[in-house]
Amino acid sequence: MAGNWKMYKTPQDTARFFIDFRPLIANVNHCEIVIFPPAIDIPEAVASAANSGIAIGGQNIYWAAEGAFTGEISAQMIRAAGAAWVLVGHSERRHHVAHEADGDVLKKTQAALSAGLTPVICVGEKLEEHKAGKANDVLVRQFAGGIAGLTEEQFARIVIAYEPVWAIGTGQVATPDIASNAHKLIRSEAEKRFGDTAAQQLRILYGGSVKPDNIQGLMREPEIDGTLVGGASLDPESFAEIVKAA
Ligand code: PEP
Repeated sequence: MAGNWKMYKTPQDTARFFIDFRPLIANVNHCEIVIFPPAIDIPEAVASAANSGIAIGGQNIYWAAEGAFTGEISAQMIRAAGAAWVLVGHSERRHHVAHEADGDVLKKTQAALSAGLTPVICVGEKLEEHKAGKANDVLVRQFAGGIAGLTEEQFARIVIAYEPVWAIGTGQVATPDIASNAHKLIRSEAEKRFGDTAAQQLRILYGGSVKPDNIQGLMREPEIDGTLVGGASLDPESFAEIVKAA
């Protein structure tokens, strides 16, 4: 169960979040919990989450280890700061802030894996693609361009998040059925390229307006292995409720 804080919270807010959140999930041992704060908050989050079992991840990396890339951060740098995970290809980066293409997603994923991070690769169709019945085509294309180029050994170390863009931050969650069918499609692409065992072992998260009042319906679907939560992960109580429902 993962929380993406987007561009919210200072280091001070981060410390406060963990003081409130840790007791709420103290007895949770049925799932992994990962929080993706802004990069500036990673050291505070790592310190505040120490000995809690909660892992910390970055929201983005650049693919080079170091160099003249002003404003970028490498996988090695966030790893050294204590992060163990990273989001790759979030739709806000693909479509709003950075125009990331599938080829960029592949390079960032390879860089993350080389540095020992677990990448969560985000895929999903835009509203107009959803309305035009093109969701499957988009997922096939994003898989082919951003994921199929991994080796089998690399593929075994990734997590995929299906995040339909029309559901992110809109309050319009995908129905469990829509999410489940998209996950099946992704798993079948994984099976074609990496084989049955690798596809069965792949963890696929759903993301898009997950809230305490819709988590149970989603997690009842066997195809949904967990969720990537944006807005509702900012509040310790609502994220704890979501985690407990996993
Ligand atoms: C996200 O940021 O990945 C996300 C799914 O956001 P929200 O839960 O706010 O829709």
